[in-house]
Amino acid sequence: MKQKGFTFEKLKFASFDFTCCEGCQLQLANRESTLPDFLGLLDIRNFREISSERHDDYDIAFVEGSISRSDEVTRLQAIRKQAKILVAFGTCACFGGVNSLKNRFAEGQPAAEVYPGMQVESLPVRKISDVVTVDFSIPGCPVAKEEVERIVVSLVTGSLIALPKYPVCMECKARLNTCLFDLGEICLGPITRAGCDAVCTTGKTACLGCRGPAEDINMPAFLELVKERGLKEEDLREKLAFHNAFEAVAANET
Ligand code: SF4
Ligand code: SF4
Ligand code: SF4
Repeated sequence: MKQKGFTFEKLKFASFDFTCCEGCQLQLANRESTLPDFLGLLDIRNFREISSERHDDYDIAFVEGSISRSDEVTRLQAIRKQAKILVAFGTCACFGGVNSLKNRFAEGQPAAEVYPGMQVESLPVRKISDVVTVDFSIPGCPVAKEEVERIVVSLVTGSLIALPKYPVCMECKARLNTCLFDLGEICLGPITRAGCDAVCTTGKTACLGCRGPAEDINMPAFLELVKERGLKEEDLREKLAFHNAFEAVAANET
């Protein structure tokens, strides 16, 4: 961004939703304590949850949701053409997310069961990077608000943006939680990228890997841990597949 004295030019910002629950966009809109400061950094050109104004002259586009219809492909391509920076926003956008569970069924079957007798287009679910080039990804189901705000500030100030490379276990241990493996559960914390402050495991719920693989994970050691604790491989596969975030890792290692 161009710096003018001690002020910064506001970022021309747009946010769009595709196949999803819109929970990630709501994470931003709901954060009332910091929302005014956050919005002060942005020139909102298009953001349905926040403003009724619609403009097409944005520089950065946050794209939430996965792609499951042909009109979504066309709309996404138009956004890509306009945006200088396109950010895949949330686990649905980054990996396909929970929507990908639909891909386990025959094409058209889930839509036919939910909307009987209606013509509903429902293609196999794809992540955003399967359709257009993505400049940066912010995972999370939903995204972590503090992380998103930090990234937006970095974009505005032209600073380096990065996600934690280490796994959720680091944050979980820092919160002095009892390990769920010790309670007989499979938790994906050892192989999942941190950044959520171990919110699930702190609430005594096993990590389902919504933030995708951490860097340099030791998958063989993780598989050995599951095996030596006598936990079921099918449960592990189910957890790895839940957000579609470990597709490549699971195919190679399990
Ligand atoms: S990542 Fe989760 S919270 Fe965000 S839109 Fe998808 S389902 Fe909703
Ligand atoms: S509960 Fe999960 S995230 Fe926490 S230490 Fe155990 S394996 Fe790691
Ligand atoms: S603990 Fe795991 S499933 Fe829960 S928010 Fe963090 S990365 Fe996602």
